[in-house]
Amino acid sequence: MSRGKKMVEKVSELMDKPEFIRNIGIVAHIDHGKTTFSDNLLSGAGMISEELSGKQLFMDSDAEEQARGITIDASNVSMVHEYNGKEYLINMIDTPGHVDFGGDVTRAMRAVDGAIVLVDAVEGPMPQTETVLRQALKEGVRPILFINKVDRLINELKVDPQEMMIRLGKVIDKVNKLIKGMNEKMYSEGGWKLDATNGTVAFGSALYNWAVSIPYMQKSGISFKEVIDKCNAGDMKGLAKSSPLHEVILDIVVKHLPNPVDAQKRRIPIIWHGDKESPEGKAMLNCDHKGAVTMMVTDISFDPHAGEVATGRLFSGKISRGMELYVVGTAGKPNRLQQVGIFMGPTRVEVEQIVGGNIAAVTGLKDAFVGSTVTSNQDIAPFESLKHYSEPVMTVAV
Ligand code: GDP
Repeated sequence: MSRGKKMVEKVSELMDKPEFIRNIGIVAHIDHGKTTFSDNLLSGAGMISEELSGKQLFMDSDAEEQARGITIDASNVSMVHEYNGKEYLINMIDTPGHVDFGGDVTRAMRAVDGAIVLVDAVEGPMPQTETVLRQALKEGVRPILFINKVDRLINELKVDPQEMMIRLGKVIDKVNKLIKGMNEKMYSEGGWKLDATNGTVAFGSALYNWAVSIPYMQKSGISFKEVIDKCNAGDMKGLAKSSPLHEVILDIVVKHLPNPVDAQKRRIPIIWHGDKESPEGKAMLNCDHKGAVTMMVTDISFDPHAGEVATGRLFSGKISRGMELYVVGTAGKPNRLQQVGIFMGPTRVEVEQIVGGNIAAVTGLKDAFVGSTVTSNQDIAPFESLKHYSEPVMTVAV
């Protein structure tokens, strides 16, 4: 069987088991390395070829698409990752780094349950780090931290191991202070306080494709000194082999970021204000695929072959081709789903059906727009409208 076909089978199998799904986004200040990080994560997980990674795949989707003859949706990708002998489906939504696109960050945060906050080790958290973190926490999205460009601390700033610990500790403290200020309850009681020793923080170099966390160093036997020595010696390839970025990061994602079933119990009361005791409310809270269909559209893109593709988070129910769904707030007739797809790597693949907890990409929703609530039952209350905070804390409707 071809590798591609095998991957389709794996993804199709995992998408029916929400406990094995993680929906995540990456948020960062511009230039902190999000594009480099996302590309290397994807190529490390074997979802795009290594030659394509590092070439700003997410930004050059048109050229890529023509070159490869496939449809790439630049903003949604999926990966399969093995952790403790089990495979997981990781759906990643891209978020723009520029604050002008703050609305897009909010949309992405609605679709995911966890966020990797990426911070440049040299610059530390910047104003946009605060803005995007605020957007994530407001949507009930759990953060973990990746401190990037650590190679620069070693090779350019020539810091010794002790100084490095101090610098990394300062970045962690600053981000923790932000999280505490934004959601004291989850910080103190929900386990959202970042802690290098429990593995909710990793550091490394997206450019050179390596990362470490304290649990990973303990597991693999690699020491802090070895990392610094290898970096000093310019042995980036060796580091990328002994502590590959995707392994370290995706382990953290699986271990510390919530699956949709756990996340929705906490997130639904934040993003949906309908009756939680109603059958639809219960279906959403429990990510129940036997309940009503509830989906929030977070992105609309145009595919030259398929037309308008609406992508969003399916919170409950099951969708399949031909199904008739209502777009809440439009008085018209229900829309009939034409194609129902998910992402495999950066490619949209048509599937038979999709259950709650997944990111779905569908065609046929002609009345939908970004922010639409799509349901099988016309009477269901819509999701909270998408609002985003632009700097410093002004609320703007999008
Ligand atoms: P984005 O704006 O957050 O998407 O950032 P990019 O991924 O485009 O990276 C911004 C710049 O930082 C580029 O020149 C990258 O090559 C560089 N960069 C990204 N990650 C690293 C890293 O780990 N180490 C070093 N030295 N440079 C990096």
